[in-house]
Formats: sequence, C-alpha cells, structure tokens
Amino acid sequence: MNDHTLNLEPLWMPFTANRQFKAEPRLLESAEGMYYRSMDGREILDGTAGLWCVNAGHSRQEITTAVSEQIAKLDYAPPFQMGHPQPFRLAEKLTEISPPGLDHVFFTNSGSESVDTALKIALAYQQARGLGRKQRLIGREKGYHGVGFGGISVGGLANNRKAFGNGLAGTAHLSHTLLKQNAFSRGQPDDGAEIADQFEELIALNDAGTIAAVIIEPVAGSAGVLVPPKGYLERIREICTRHDILLILDEVITAYGRVGAPFAATKFGVTPDIITTAKGLTNGALPMGAVFVSDEIHSAFMQGPENVIELFHGYTYSGHPVAAAAGLAAMEIYASDDLFQRADDISGYFEEAVHSLANCRHVIDIRNFGLMAAVELTPRENAPGTRGYDVFNSCFFEQNILVRVTADVIALSPPLIIEKRQIDEIIEKLGSAIDQVE
Ligand code: PLP
Repeated sequence: MNDHTLNLEPLWMPFTANRQFKAEPRLLESAEGMYYRSMDGREILDGTAGLWCVNAGHSRQEITTAVSEQIAKLDYAPPFQMGHPQPFRLAEKLTEISPPGLDHVFFTNSGSESVDTALKIALAYQQARGLGRKQRLIGREKGYHGVGFGGISVGGLANNRKAFGNGLAGTAHLSHTLLKQNAFSRGQPDDGAEIADQFEELIALNDAGTIAAVIIEPVAGSAGVLVPPKGYLERIREICTRHDILLILDEVITAYGRVGAPFAATKFGVTPDIITTAKGLTNGALPMGAVFVSDEIHSAFMQGPENVIELFHGYTYSGHPVAAAAGLAAMEIYASDDLFQRADDISGYFEEAVHSLANCRHVIDIRNFGLMAAVELTPRENAPGTRGYDVFNSCFFEQNILVRVTADVIALSPPLIIEKRQIDEIIEKLGSAIDQVE
C-alpha cells in the first residue's frame, strides 16, 4: 500500500510530469544491492543504477560507515581559503585512475555544475594565455550537459532549451552521430566517423581563433545511448589539437566504470583536455561532481603573484567533507571489488541479452556500449513518447523492474555488480512489457 498520509502536492518534482505522477505515484522506500523496495512493498530490480549513478549497488555498508563517521567528526568546513584533508585525499585517489596528464581536480556538487565549471575554466584558460578572443563554446545536437545556463547553451535537446531564453552567445552545435544505417549495431557502429569533419566546416565558418572548446559526451546517455562511430572521437581529438581548441569530454554518466573502464576516455584511448564527472563519484550516495583538468591548463593559471586567487569560481560545498568521504569509500569499493573490470567482463553477455529484444514488437533500434543500452520503439502516431512511457510504467508496476524512459527510448544501465541471472530477468520482463503494450 502507498502511504496515504504522504502529501504529494507541495513538491514540484524535477523532469517529471507532476500531475501524471501524482495520479499514480511510483514511490521507492528503501534499497539494497540490486534491488529497490517500493512503498507498496514490492521488490524492484534496478535496471538503471538509480539514475546512472549507483555503480556499486545500493546502500553499501562501507559508504554508510564512512559518511556517518565523517559527519560526526567534521560536518562542514569552508572550502575558500581554508582546507580539510578529505578533498585532498579524494583528488589524489582520483588522479590515480584518471588518464595520464589530467592530474588536477576541481570539486562541484553535480554534473551540471561540473559542466559549467569546465566551460568557465576553458574560457578563463584561453584568456589566461592571451587568447581571449577564443570565446565560442561548441556542443552537439542531442547532447545533454545538465541544466545550468552553460550546459543548456551547449546542449542539444530542444525541450531543455526552448523555454529558457537565448542562452550563451556564440555557441554552435555539431551534428549528432545517430545514423539509420547503424541501427542494431553492437557496440561502436561502423559508419559515421566522417561526421566529425563537419567540425572543420564550423571552424572555417567561425575561425578557430574564436573557438574556446567543444564539449562531447563520449557515449551520449540522456538522448538514448548514442555510441560514437568507430574513429569519430579520434577525429574530433585530432581536429581540436590541430586548431588549438580544447576538448571537453562530459563523462557524468560514463566515468567510474559504466563503460568497463575508469573513464570512456580510457576505454576509447582518446585523451581530452578536461573531463567532467559526478554520479558514480559517490556511488550516488551524496551529491558531488569532479572536473579533471590537464596539467597544461592548470599550470596556465598558476602564474603571477601568489597572493592572487587564480580562478574566481567555486561552491560553498566544493569538496564537502561528507561527500568526499563517500567518494573515497566508493573508490575503495570500485578498486577492491574490481568493478570496472567486472563491468567489462559482463558487457558481452549484456550486449547479447539486450539484442535478443530485436524481434519484439515496435522495436526499431537497439544500441549498447559497456553496461549502457537503449531499446528504441516506434512512436505511436500523433502521440510520441506514450508507448515508451507505457512500457516504463508496466515495467515498474507489473514486472517489478526499474528501467528509464526518454520519449520512446528505454534505457538500461544496471549497477556494475549485476549477475547474469539478473540481466536475464530484466531482459525477459522488459521484452514482455514491450510485447504487451499497444
Ligand atoms: N552531463 C551529462 C552527460 C549527464 O548525463 C548529466 C545527467 O544525467 C549531467 C551532465 C547533469 O548532471 P546533474 O543532473 O548531476 O546536474
């Protein structure tokens, strides 16, 4: 039974159809390992790691203990002109797994803040080295970079932009890489590396001297798991280097094991100048983000009089002691359970299982990489998104599994601890839900 004493009205829920939700609420009450428990007492198998973040599974004792001990010892300390040990320790730990050369970490509280921080660092870096005319920020169609004004300006999802004014001046967008001929590709699609060459045209049009950075999700998550065509990211990297433009990889979803490596940058062998992260950094247990910056960028700021603040940017909760403690505990779990490798090992089984849905009704594409997958359904005529929503709802209420829906795309991103039998269960139940929906 749902708790009828719960008043749903005062809360304005984020990215939610509030009235639809409140008419038939999907409420979760507790969680452990691979499972949630709903408020009406059902066990729900988590096919989404919460929201792409609970990589080590729910309610890990190590994190609970670290957080409780930390909050009892030092609940808060100011991060401006003051320090405490935890963020220094966490930054050091993170640079042990970051791609070589990205050895400096700036802490934020979310993916959106990581993105806006990265964009600001990119602009300030260009100015610091005397190239202040480089002010353009380039994104991509279908890109999702959070909800700050910087993030929505470079983002490429119309609904996230169109109600919110003009955004940052001077942004431009490259095409997305979703090609019809690549439907049902397993892993990286063969076709489409040449889409990167459009960047050359955009540079020719605007002049490289005006472009500060391009931001790209190595595997786009929110738009429905868009996997980069073979060679695409390498070409983007090469173009950036040739034109002296910074490459920012937005790894808010892909970092910390989701693609079977610490970072997608590691997996693809493409080293950016800046990486944005959040989510899996604390296993979702507390809000925290981290921006990784190259030594070259960092050292451009560490110049001039030593009593001058190098970057006028930061948050009250940057490097929060309790969040940092959660981050340290999460990193320990990832290492001790070898979870990034585990994700890589089981990703082949996951791929096989997800592609077994190809013959279900309405399915027009299946995409996967690491432990990320999307099953795309034909939209209903004149009612886009409703078929996907019905599948999602039936998964929750009837099949007892949690999947994610955006429009008519069902996304899967289970915790990296998932067992083969749980993959089988998710796929079987998702298949039934898809087959049963009109
Ligand atoms: N960037 C990417 C690639 C994301 O997927 C997300 C969230 O899903 C964000 C940024 C924003 O993160 P947050 O919701 O923590 O602000």
